[in-house]
Amino acid sequence: MHPLTGDHAQSIGAWGELRLLAAIRHWLGDCAPPNPVGMGDDCAVLDRPAGNLLTVDSVIFGRHFDADVPPAAVGAKLMHRNLSDIAAMGGEPRFALLAGALPAATAHAWVAAMVQGLAAAARQHGVLIVGGDLAQSATDLVLTLTLTGHAARPLLRSGGQPGDHIVVTGQLGGSRAGRHYAFEPRLAEGRALAADPRITVAMDVTDGLATDLPKLLPAGCGAELDLAAVPLADAAVALAAGTGKPAWWHALCDGEDYELLFLVPAAVSITGWLAAWNADPRHAAATCIGRVVAGGRGLVDSRDGLPLRGVGGYEHFS
Ligand SMILES: [Mg+2]
Repeated sequence: MHPLTGDHAQSIGAWGELRLLAAIRHWLGDCAPPNPVGMGDDCAVLDRPAGNLLTVDSVIFGRHFDADVPPAAVGAKLMHRNLSDIAAMGGEPRFALLAGALPAATAHAWVAAMVQGLAAAARQHGVLIVGGDLAQSATDLVLTLTLTGHAARPLLRSGGQPGDHIVVTGQLGGSRAGRHYAFEPRLAEGRALAADPRITVAMDVTDGLATDLPKLLPAGCGAELDLAAVPLADAAVALAAGTGKPAWWHALCDGEDYELLFLVPAAVSITGWLAAWNADPRHAAATCIGRVVAGGRGLVDSRDGLPLRGVGGYEHFS
């Protein structure tokens, strides 16, 4: 059977990522344990209470980077994307495997610089690269990194409650202007969150806040967003001047922010919590952008309670 089809209705593009993932989970059957050991979080939590973490991520030429991105930055980005998933669980990274599918025409000078960029990022974060695999591909250049880590108390996507404050680190939007390969994974922030027993729910923002936030909401809940509070990256403001869309739209939809998104329980004074967090110079600034609300109306504007229209993040198979 040919893996590709000319019939769109029979393709994974017609399904989209969420439906494909649900189908894969179904086909795996009892090979796929329930979350958080199995699929559904930023990392798999292999055992509890030991808290060993496992995650994998790829970068693809033409999709996640192009010829304008220095090869060392490609290697760093591959490491940083995986580190961001470890950060989202409040973990420490440990060991990595590197797999590459490369055309024979790939310049070895490019590979050298890419691997050196990967190694520099690994060294900075105490990661040991312990093996991998190489394969020759016809045209596509795909690099995949598998990373292990450890978290004494892993932060999960599940466990949110109505009334929880929604908080994000850093600034959002416009990452395609360059931040997508020059970001710092929020490992220190993830560890600090995991050290605060009041915080249990977190993820990293990779596909855009509008796509990722619903993954953090408990079943039957929506989110009320204060659009004026959403922290805007300068690049989002600059991009908005050209697209005519509001800068907050770019902050919600652009993706590749690699910031941490987390919930602070309603019983915690969010003003006091943020004041303490933001007074610590080791942390990227955190901003409260809304709260979890009962009732499944998706993302609503806190000013008028109406659903946000025309917001969506990155769809992997469109
Ligand atoms: Mg993630």
